[in-house]
Amino acid sequence: MMRMPISIAALCISLSAHAADAFDDKFRQLDELLPTATPYRTASGAPGHAYWQQRADYTLRATLDEAKRAISASGQITYHNNSPDTLHYLWLQLDQNIYKPDSAARRMLTAPSREAWAKAKGQDEGMKFEGMRGILAGREFDGGFRIGAVKTAAGQPLAYTINQTMMRIDLPAPLKPGEKFSFALDWQYNINEQKVLGGRSGYEVFEQDKNALFEVAQWFPRMAAYYDVAGWQHKQFIGSGEFTLEFGDYDVSLTVPADHVVASTGELLNPEQVLSAAQRERLARARGSDKPVLIVTQAEAEAAEKSVSGATKTWRFKANNVRDFAWASSRKFIWDAQGYKKGGTNVMAMSYYPKEGNPLWEKYSTQAIVHTIEQYNKYSFDYPYPTAISVNGPVGGMEYPMISFNGPRPTKDKKTGELTYSKRAKYGLIGVVIHEVGHNYFPMIVNSDERQWTWMDEGLNTFVQYLAEQAWEEHYPQSRGEPRAIVDYMRSRNQVPIMTNSESLLQFGNNAYAKPATALNILRETILGRELFDHAFREYGRRWKFKRPTPADFFRTMEDASGTDLDWFWRGWFYTTDAVDISVDGISEIGVSSKNPETEKAWKKAQKAGEPESVTDRMNKGMARRTEAHPELKDFYNEHDDYTVTNKDRNSYAEAVGKLEPWEKQLLEQGKHLYLVDLSNVGGLVMPLVLEIELKGGKKYIERVPAEVWRYSPKKITKLIVTDEPMVGLTQDPYWETADIDTGNNSWPRKVTPSRVELFKSEQRDDMMKDFNTPLKAKDAKTEAGDIKDEAGK
Ligand SMILES: [Zn+2]
Repeated sequence: MMRMPISIAALCISLSAHAADAFDDKFRQLDELLPTATPYRTASGAPGHAYWQQRADYTLRATLDEAKRAISASGQITYHNNSPDTLHYLWLQLDQNIYKPDSAARRMLTAPSREAWAKAKGQDEGMKFEGMRGILAGREFDGGFRIGAVKTAAGQPLAYTINQTMMRIDLPAPLKPGEKFSFALDWQYNINEQKVLGGRSGYEVFEQDKNALFEVAQWFPRMAAYYDVAGWQHKQFIGSGEFTLEFGDYDVSLTVPADHVVASTGELLNPEQVLSAAQRERLARARGSDKPVLIVTQAEAEAAEKSVSGATKTWRFKANNVRDFAWASSRKFIWDAQGYKKGGTNVMAMSYYPKEGNPLWEKYSTQAIVHTIEQYNKYSFDYPYPTAISVNGPVGGMEYPMISFNGPRPTKDKKTGELTYSKRAKYGLIGVVIHEVGHNYFPMIVNSDERQWTWMDEGLNTFVQYLAEQAWEEHYPQSRGEPRAIVDYMRSRNQVPIMTNSESLLQFGNNAYAKPATALNILRETILGRELFDHAFREYGRRWKFKRPTPADFFRTMEDASGTDLDWFWRGWFYTTDAVDISVDGISEIGVSSKNPETEKAWKKAQKAGEPESVTDRMNKGMARRTEAHPELKDFYNEHDDYTVTNKDRNSYAEAVGKLEPWEKQLLEQGKHLYLVDLSNVGGLVMPLVLEIELKGGKKYIERVPAEVWRYSPKKITKLIVTDEPMVGLTQDPYWETADIDTGNNSWPRKVTPSRVELFKSEQRDDMMKDFNTPLKAKDAKTEAGDIKDEAGK
C-alpha cells in the first residue's frame, strides 16, 4: 500500500508505451543537430585552442557634397589572413548597391495579397502613401556604388567582379596563412533620402529651414567575413539580414561643410582644427560632469541654420578594434556630452540632435546612454570604447560601433508650433537609445553572424534591454521580454522557428527580438535562477567579445557555465514553433489505509453515505414497510451493516500491526493527504511545473517541478502531490511566468474566465439621396480637415 512511487513510475511507463508509435523525445541531446566541436570551437562553447579570425584595417577619406547629397571617397584596406587557408580572392560588401534600380532586393519585393489591400480597413493593413512613394522613387533613384579604381598598394590595377551587393577582388598572388594584402579603391555614391527610400542610413531635409541632416553608413566597400563555419559570408544583402564584418583599426578623414558638426565612430584626433575653444572647454568639463553638458547649444545650432558655409573642414577620427564605421553630419546639431568612468569603462556619452528633437532629446538621450552602459556592464562586460553616441535623424533605430541613429521626436503643433511629446515618443526614445547603444555589446563586440542569424544580436540585445529598462523606473512600459506579452505570438499560426535564416523569418520582430528575449527571461527567472543564469550569460560575453560566436557556442556556453542540461529548452524554444500550454486535467485523492478496521470501515461508511440518494429511495420515503409493522422480523443483520467492525477484524489488525517495524507504524499514523494530479501538455513545449497548492485552512504555497518531469511522457503525466491538510485548489503557473497561451485550463477547480462583449447599435444603411443633399463645405474648412497630421514616431 505504501508503494506509491513505484506505482507512479509504472503509470508513466504504461503511458509512454501507449505513445510508443509517435514518441517525441523532448530531451534528446542537441549534439545530433549542433556542429561537431573543432579546434576552433570547443564542445563547451568556448573558442578553441586554434580559434582564428580575419582582420581588416582601413584608412579612408570621404567628402560630403551637401548640395548633391553625395559621397566621394577613397581608401586603403589591409586584409590580414589569419586563417589556416590560402586565399585566391577576397570578397567585399557593396551594400549601397541595394539602391540600384534593378537590385535583387527591389525585384524580389512582393505585395500583400490584393484581397488584403482591397479590404484594408486602416493604417496597419493597407498600402500607405509612404510605401507607394518609396516604390516609385526607388525606380528613379540613381543609387549604388560607382567604383572608380581598384589597385594594389603599389598602384597596379586589380581584377574585380561585382555580383550585385558583393565584389570579388582577384589576388595577384595567393594569400597564404599569416600574410596580409593591401589594396586601394576609390568610389562615390548618391545618398538615399531616408524618409522616402528607407534604409539604415540616409539624409533628411527639414522643410522649415531647408537644411539637411546626414546619417552616413554602409558608405565604403567593407570586407566580407571569412570564418571557419561559413567560409566567405557573401550571402547577398537583400534587406533583412544585416552585416557580418571583421574587426580592425580605422583612420578616417571626413571633409564636410565648415559649419557642420560631425558625430562619428572613434575618437576625434584634431579638435583644435574643427572645434572652437569654447567647445573644447565644454567637452573637458563634460568628462567629469554627473549630468549632460551642452557642447553646442540650441541657440548656437539655430544660428548656424541661418546660413550655408562655402568652405570645408576635415574631421579626422581614429577607431581601434571596431567592425564598422559610421558617422553623421549637419549644421543643425545641438550636441551634449557626459563622461562615465567605472571599472574598465571610461567613455564619453554624447548626443547630437536638431532642435526638432527637443525638449525630449536634451532631457533623455545622453542619460539613457549612460544608463545603458551602466546596466549592460553588469550583465556582460565593461564597455571598452572611448565614446558612445546617440544621433537623432531620419533613421528610426540603427546601431554602429560607438554610434547609433535614433528616430523618436516630439510632435509639433502645426498651428501654434508648440512642441509636446506623447508617452509613446518618450519611452520610444529611451527604449531605442538603450537598444541601439546596447548593440555595441551584441553584435558590435560579441560579433555574431548577422547575415545568418538575427536572433543572436537582436534577441540577446532585446533581453538585456529588458533588464536595463527594469532598472530605469518601476512599471516601465515594456513590450518585449515579459512572458505574458509573447502569448499572442506563440498562439499565432504563421511562424517559423527562431533558428531560421534572417531573410526567411516570418513576423520578424516577434521571432527574432521578442521570442528569444522572452525565452532568456524565462530561462533566468523560472528555470536556472538569476545566479546561475547571470554567471553563464556573462561567461558567454567574456568568451566571445571581439570574436564571432555561432548559435552552438551560445547554447553550449549557457549549459557549460550553469552546469545544467538545457538541450530540451533550446530544442523547444529555438528549433520549433511549439507553445506552452499545460493543462491541469483532473485530480484524484488517494487515501493511505491505516489498516485499522475502526478507521477504515468508518471511512468506507462515510463514503457510502456521501453517495447521492437513489431516486427510488427518495420517492419511497414514508412508505409502509413490513419490518416496521412486524419488528419481530428484525435480527442481527438489521442492527449491523457491512461496516461493522468484528473481533476477527480487530485480531487480524493487531496481528498485522504486531509484525510492523516502528517506522512502518509511524508512516501509517502520519495522516498525509495524497493527490494524483493529471497534467497534459497541449502546446508541445515542455516546461517546469509551477504548482500553487491551496489547502483547506487557507494556506497557499508553490511547488516547483523541473521540466524533466515530462521525460517519459511528453504529452500526459500524473504527478503525486502530498499535503498535510486537504487540498482545495491547485493552479499551474499562477504568476504567468511560462508564457502559457491558455490559462483557462491551468486551475483546478476550473475558474470562470471573465470577459466583456461590446454591443453595437444596428447601423443604418447608406442613404445616397441624403448624402447628395448634404451642403458642400467651404474650401478653408476642407483644407483643415485634410491637415490632420500623422502620429509622430510611427
Ligand atoms: Zn536591434
